[in-house]
Amino acid sequence: MMARRPKFRGTFFVNRFFTHLECGNCGKSHDADRLQTTCGACAGPLLARYDLANPEMPSLDEVMSRRPGQFRFHEVLPTAAGGGTPTLGEGATPLIESRPLGPGVHVKDESQNPTGSFKARGMAVAIARSVELGATEFCLPSNGNAGGAAAAYSALLGVKVDIAVPANTPQALVDESRALGANVTLVDGTIADAGRIQKEKAVANGWFSVATLHEPYRIEGKKMMGYELFWDLGRMPDVVLYPTGGGTGLVGMIKAFDEMEQLGWIGSERPRMVAVQVEGCAPIVRAHHEGLDSAPAWENPDTTAAFGLRVPSALGDQLMLKGLRDTNGTGVAVSETAMLDATDRLAREAGIWGSPEGGAVLAAYETLRDSSWLEAGETVVLFNTGSALKYV
Ligand SMILES: *Cc1c(COP(=O)(O)O)cnc(C)c1O
Ligand SMILES: [Zn+2]
Repeated sequence: MMARRPKFRGTFFVNRFFTHLECGNCGKSHDADRLQTTCGACAGPLLARYDLANPEMPSLDEVMSRRPGQFRFHEVLPTAAGGGTPTLGEGATPLIESRPLGPGVHVKDESQNPTGSFKARGMAVAIARSVELGATEFCLPSNGNAGGAAAAYSALLGVKVDIAVPANTPQALVDESRALGANVTLVDGTIADAGRIQKEKAVANGWFSVATLHEPYRIEGKKMMGYELFWDLGRMPDVVLYPTGGGTGLVGMIKAFDEMEQLGWIGSERPRMVAVQVEGCAPIVRAHHEGLDSAPAWENPDTTAAFGLRVPSALGDQLMLKGLRDTNGTGVAVSETAMLDATDRLAREAGIWGSPEGGAVLAAYETLRDSSWLEAGETVVLFNTGSALKYV
């Protein structure tokens, strides 16, 4: 690829509240003022840490008085450009109280993000911060939505991106990435195979990889979903059901809740976090029920309509499993039939034509309700993570 001059340049260093990066697995500190991948000591995912006790941190009221959107609370995001970070309007998605689905049920409709999925949240932050630190050529493996979002933000910022997707990825997802200027390669196998290929290409070409949790900032964008739940409701929900692939959203929201407690906005209360996967590829759900601290890779995952959930092994496994345990949460694997049936009902009964991942979450909610894991009157948030339009 030819290097292009990024559109977004400046003498950026770091957000003054952003202090360092810390390994989520072993705790080792890493510099925040240069490009980083995973922990040099243990290869675990790096997490951004902020000076949350700083008296100059804006109050909750001040944050709420700002225009809604992903960078509303830029003091807890890594970009030096802060509120001036280039945006496509990601975040500030509606939390819809959906009476037809049940009392207390809310749907956080992430399909209303740019590129039709919540992958926009992570890429908005990761690409912008990496460009500030000098990256101009990016690559990633994707099941489709991450690729589309990476392509959109690369176009916005004037940088190049190379994407590898499994050959059976829906055509709309491939077309979208190409229309947005990305180079897209179809590979045989799963996202894990695409990941191996991109890793080699990254080394050979000097590309910066924005693969899930291989860099520290996609999770920072996704964590804003946790802040938004609190802003939308004015309190914490009791239960959050999340369709789990690489787990950035799950780990990100748990990180946001911890940050809100350190900011003094909430106490130690936490929603019970539920990881939802499909029966044909459920490494996190299986490991949770076996009481493990890390998740062995899922051998030969079945194909599923929920492409975003076909992740046989994830770098954030330890953080996800700890999060489910710490919040008294659980994991639910749903059958393909139950998922597709629930996707239909999400559309017909709630008016939300969602991705199959959203259907998986509704099916898991019904399982938990019928098993009395959920109590009557609890406030439950179901994540619809993408638009059905991406899957036609
Ligand atoms: C990527 C994706 C997921 C899984 O998200 P993670 O944060 O990686 O676990 C769920 N739903 C959709 C539509 C996705 O694109
Ligand atoms: Zn480490």
